[in-house]
Amino acid sequence: MILYSTNHQSPDVLLEEAVFRGLPQDNGLYMPYEISELPQSFFDNIQNLSLTEIAFEVSKALIGNDIPENDLRKIVNTAINFEAPIVEIEPDTYVLELFHGPSMAFKDFGARFMAALMSYFLQKSNKDIHILVATSGDTGGAVAQGFYETPGIKVTILYPKGKVSDIQEKQLTTLGKNVTALEVDGTFDDCQALVKAAFLDQDLRQKFNLASANSINISRLIPQSFYYFNAYAQLKKAGNTAPVVFCVPSGNFGNLSAGLIAAKMGLPVKMFVAATNINNIVPDYLKSGVYAPKTSQETISNAMDVGNPSNFIRMKILAGSDFDQVIQKITGDFRNDEETKKAMKKVYDQTGYIMCPHTAVAYLGLKAYTESLGEKVAGVFLSTAHFAKFLDVVEETLHTKVPVPERLEALLSKEKVAIAMPKDFSSFKAYLLS
Ligand SMILES: *Cc1c(COP(=O)(O)O)cnc(C)c1O
Repeated sequence: MILYSTNHQSPDVLLEEAVFRGLPQDNGLYMPYEISELPQSFFDNIQNLSLTEIAFEVSKALIGNDIPENDLRKIVNTAINFEAPIVEIEPDTYVLELFHGPSMAFKDFGARFMAALMSYFLQKSNKDIHILVATSGDTGGAVAQGFYETPGIKVTILYPKGKVSDIQEKQLTTLGKNVTALEVDGTFDDCQALVKAAFLDQDLRQKFNLASANSINISRLIPQSFYYFNAYAQLKKAGNTAPVVFCVPSGNFGNLSAGLIAAKMGLPVKMFVAATNINNIVPDYLKSGVYAPKTSQETISNAMDVGNPSNFIRMKILAGSDFDQVIQKITGDFRNDEETKKAMKKVYDQTGYIMCPHTAVAYLGLKAYTESLGEKVAGVFLSTAHFAKFLDVVEETLHTKVPVPERLEALLSKEKVAIAMPKDFSSFKAYLLS
């Protein structure tokens, strides 16, 4: 796999370098030159394949030149060790559940695959690395779980004190071993500034092999394409052969970009719906053709509170060369918190199905689009997190107690272990060097 920088100033790299670098030096994003189509025989037989078999075929087509087949199979089987089922909650309306991994959010796909790839490349080179990651909540849990007990990798997670939910904090602070949590006396932006400063610091760079695990790493995008194929396979298996529409609740637009990769590889998709909360920069762009980033606003679907989506350029490149092509493939929808809560309540009352706020935004986006069509389609909306991760807003909205999965419940009784850290760089640096 050869990758270029979307800013065209940094040199082309192979997958291994792109994975450890994360970002090219010219501040663009790494993109593969080639995304090859899968053969018709793959799609003819797809309903008989498991998620891991699909994941192997897709990753072989994308990165098969970089990693021998046997090793790639091991990487896929290690990373994708949970399911991504579809559930039909209304006729022809399916929720694709992406929360069956260890942190109960779809970011497990990306984080676990990235961890398995890094670990593979490190074994070959006998190197150790130290990963620094700042989190506002969900990413940290997935990264912590993804890299937990991975040989050769030490992880330091910085999170803002008092600004993540109970469950999220426990996901970061109860693992131990190679994962250390720093509770920073500051905001998420302060955490991110500390990580950035560390990467620029000569002393730290001399002492450690620092790597980043942020969401624009290309190795987090690749595994997110697997479940689009798998959803199609399940529809086919269930005998639903209507054209498929995917609605993706979006923040930085990595998830939607991964869907576009699947479509480029031949997956038949009638339309992608880009669903956001009131941070509607992309739905606005899809309407006007003008991309106008804004300061983000807080909502109840807070993992999507993004004012300048980091994968926007990837989404555009993958969708087509001009605006007319982009809107053939993607349509937008956005919802405020009131509409989101109403949908959570309505679906719960009518079907018993419980959605997290992000999932509800996607449900609304899907319905608005499919109901505007005069034809039968198979509508799939992505559920990016388990509802219990947003317990307060879910219980308040549904006016009822909801069941908390054992995995999350067990966390709450575990003891938090975190190192208190002031927000100035000299303290952080002294800690790392000690
Ligand atoms: C990260 C996240 C999103 C947004 O995904 P993007 O790939 O950034 O668009 C949506 N929902 C949840 C629960 C998330 O954690």
